[in-house]
Formats: sequence, structure tokens, C-alpha cells
Amino acid sequence: MNLDFTLDKYKKICQAVIDAGYEIMTVRKYLQTTNPISDYAILRHDVDRNPGNAQKMARLENRLGLASTYYFRYTRNVFKSDIIKNIASMGHEIGYHYETLSKTNGNFEKAIEVFKNELAEFRKICEVNTISMHGKPFSKWDNRELWSKYDFTDLDLIGEAYLSIDYDKVQYFCDTGRTWDSKKYNIRDHVKQDDSFEIDKTDELISLLFSKTKSSVCISSHPNRWADSNAEWFGSYLSDWLINRIKLGISLCK
Ligand SMILES: [Zn+2]
Repeated sequence: MNLDFTLDKYKKICQAVIDAGYEIMTVRKYLQTTNPISDYAILRHDVDRNPGNAQKMARLENRLGLASTYYFRYTRNVFKSDIIKNIASMGHEIGYHYETLSKTNGNFEKAIEVFKNELAEFRKICEVNTISMHGKPFSKWDNRELWSKYDFTDLDLIGEAYLSIDYDKVQYFCDTGRTWDSKKYNIRDHVKQDDSFEIDKTDELISLLFSKTKSSVCISSHPNRWADSNAEWFGSYLSDWLINRIKLGISLCK
């Protein structure tokens, strides 16, 4: 059975970016590179749940000689210092997946204080230079709005994955909703972009990577979605199916 969203399928994405000749980058490296030598592929992951899956994905990339960026939420089930340190030791970048406007119900003053405290907890265990907002689908707060009032560079951060990448030059692909089609089910994890590619399955993404229709790409994935056993795959499938139905309900109500 050709199941999508398995770790084996993710490995095929990695092999595609290698074989198609992209220069593979973390978000930090992208922001620090002024003149990339070729088309590049930025690989990033938002660790929303199941940090153990992130560790498996990080090992897989490491075996292929790749380094990517892992954004961890600061929650009891995700902020696991041993796992974070282990992933950093493989050469991957660790970033902070913040959601402090949601956590403080839109109170900007409290949100920036919580942000500083959580960032400090990350920096006790590893270097953090970049951040990405957690697009909490059922919260009315867009966590990126924090930067309409504050400046993350004041906190020794060089970039925010949704705000600092030039998406006019980099085609953005995200697995939210268990599809690569950004128009479906994607309430928050989107960027401002002319969405000229409507692809659904990972095999279609792989074909597109080889065709190099767009010169540089950013591939954003959630490790909890990518299963390495049938039982895990069905659990992840059911969870995505349920969330997609609820999101569909929310967008129909708008
Ligand atoms: Zn997230």
C-alpha cells in the first residue's frame, strides 16, 4: 500500500531535494547567506506534538547528511530538553515555536514577557536564533501580531520563519491538513504568496521538486504527522481528518 505521510515518504522528499540539486538550508543559514550558489531548499519543521517523532525525522535527515530547522513549542509534552539537545547535537537548528498571544488571550504586555521567559528556557539548553509562530487553529489570536508592537531583533533573534523569508523568491509548501494544497484546511500556517501550484499528495510535491518550476523552495512539515508504523499512521490520519472537518466548519461559518 502506497501510504502518504509516512517517514519513508518523507525520506523520498529528502532524496528528491538532494537528487534535484538544491542547496539544503536551515532557516538560520538562509538568513545568513547573502549569495546562495544554487537553488536552495529550506527544510523546517514545527514540532506541535510528539517530540519523539521529530527525533526520528532528525535522525533520518542526519543519516542523509542533511541539516534542517526544528521549531519546538514550549509546552509540557513538547519541550523535552533531552530530545532537543539530541537533535541539536546532530547539527540541526533548534528554534522556538511560540504561541504567547494565544496563551495570554491577546494581552501583548503579558505575551512579550512570557515570550522572553520561554526563550530563556530554550537558551539554557541550546542556541536559538530564529522563531516561528504556532498557528493555533482554534484560537482567535494570530501569534505573529506580537511583532506589530515589539521587535524580535531586540532579543538577539535574526528571523521569524513566516515573516523573514522572501516568499516572492521562495515557493512555500506546508503539510497542514495532510495536503500540500495551501488553499485547503490551512487557517493560519500560510504565507502571503501567489499560490500557483495546487498539489495534494507528496508524490506530486516530489515531481514538482524535480521539475524545478520554481527555483527555490521552503518545505514545512509537522513531524507528528509522519508515521513510522501502521498504527501510528491511522492515529495521525484520524486526528487530521477530525481537525479538517472542524476547520471546514469554522470557514463555512465565516
Ligand atoms: Zn505549530
